[in-house]
Amino acid sequence: MWRGTVRTKPLRTGSSFVGLGTHRHRMVIYPISSPDPDGTCLVNWIAEVTMDSAEGWQHDGWFRPVELAHFVHHFEDFRYEWLDVPAMLAQADCAYENPMIDRDPVDTWVQGPVALMGDAAHAMYPTGSNGASQAIVDARVLGAKIVRHGATPAALEAYDEQLCGPVSELVLRNRGAGPFGLLNMLDERCGGVFDDIETVLPVEERREFMAKYKAAAGFAMEQLNAAPPTIEEGAQVRG
Ligand SMILES: Cc1cc2nc3c(=O)[nH]c(=O)nc-3n(C[C@H](O)[C@H](O)[C@H](O)COP(=O)(O)OP(=O)(O)OC[C@H]3O[C@@H](n4cnc5c(N)ncnc54)[C@H](O)[C@@H]3O)c2cc1C
Repeated sequence: MWRGTVRTKPLRTGSSFVGLGTHRHRMVIYPISSPDPDGTCLVNWIAEVTMDSAEGWQHDGWFRPVELAHFVHHFEDFRYEWLDVPAMLAQADCAYENPMIDRDPVDTWVQGPVALMGDAAHAMYPTGSNGASQAIVDARVLGAKIVRHGATPAALEAYDEQLCGPVSELVLRNRGAGPFGLLNMLDERCGGVFDDIETVLPVEERREFMAKYKAAAGFAMEQLNAAPPTIEEGAQVRG
């Protein structure tokens, strides 16, 4: 993955999250600031290509600064009437290389008085942009269990019981295409080229696909908004 930012006009609605390509070769683009009076804002971009890493990752560390020429050739064809990706990348403030690395799920996050949470428990591919939010969910759920059971082994067990299985499944699901499965469907059906998307991938099918992903990843808005708080306001740990 190569990541960076660029100051430019945001795409489409102004807050759109844009994904192009397939999950093995894609660009993801979204704004990360409000627009300035001139209509430009800071835009985050992520350029990804799946490579053979059978011999392991050959570079050290994370956020290795790279030159545009190192990777822009992978995206030469990403030129449209409404967006020229190589031209956008040429204006970028910076570009960093990051490997996509996760860890196999483990059976339990708890050993004696120690519980893992966040990336220590479930480092996952950022396919669904949910590594950090999942770490926050861990903290809330662990807090709720400590409110209920006190700071006891039972609290850690209840936390493990609720999250380890489902989040481990999410780690494996993120190894697939995640929400970008929609792009793969388009690619398989028409090579990503169409005049009317309704004839290739109708809106009901798109909605159904996204609803399934959101429900699995806990992003379903109505469900989330209707859910009670994980920890009641004013709750206190006993003892
Ligand atoms: C390139 C990239 C893009 C990402 N994009 C997204 C995204 O869009 N959305 C999203 O939700 N998530 C995203 N993530 C994932 C997210 O960053 C992580 O899931 C999240 O930071 C995990 O939080 P954490 O607190 O578990 O671990 P960390 O953030 O890694 O925190 C662990 C901390 O412990 C410190 N530490 C380590 N060892 C010791 C020690 N011995 N003593 C004291 N301190 C120590 C480290 O310095 C670090 O500060 C992305 C990750 C990467 C790499």
